[in-house]
Amino acid sequence: MEKLIEKVTNILGSNNYKITSQRKDILKVLIKNKERHFSAEELYEEVKKINPDVGLATIYRNLEIFSELGITHQLDFDGNFKKYELSLERHHHHLICKNCGKIIEFNDDVLEDFEKDLEKHYNFKIVDHQIKFYGICQDCKNEDE
Ligand SMILES: [Zn+2]
Ligand SMILES: [Zn+2]
Ligand SMILES: [Zn+2]
Repeated sequence: MEKLIEKVTNILGSNNYKITSQRKDILKVLIKNKERHFSAEELYEEVKKINPDVGLATIYRNLEIFSELGITHQLDFDGNFKKYELSLERHHHHLICKNCGKIIEFNDDVLEDFEKDLEKHYNFKIVDHQIKFYGICQDCKNEDE
């Protein structure tokens, strides 16, 4: 936890942002819940528990800054709503249910191999990738039957 906060502090610092106590509390919640994909409102509810002074506008503003700096990753759902997660040191991909919004994380070496093939084929240095598959999750599929 401390190590990650230090890392984020450095990223913020080199972009002229200070680590305020509110920022730190938002980060703490994100780090503690690494596996979760938060909407801004959901994150707000969690941060409020450790810092009742934080407002929703602060959460929005910081999520924007964090996403810009690559500290958080923003998942779009057809432009309707957004979810956020900590992206540092967590490489993975997403299956997103278009019906209920459930997000399933996965990692597949085949995709990483595919990246190496692309690099070779196009002589292109790939620095990052994001992979999202949209569909219908098991629960939603069962409901239809
Ligand atoms: Zn679903
Ligand atoms: Zn994720
Ligand atoms: Zn990958």
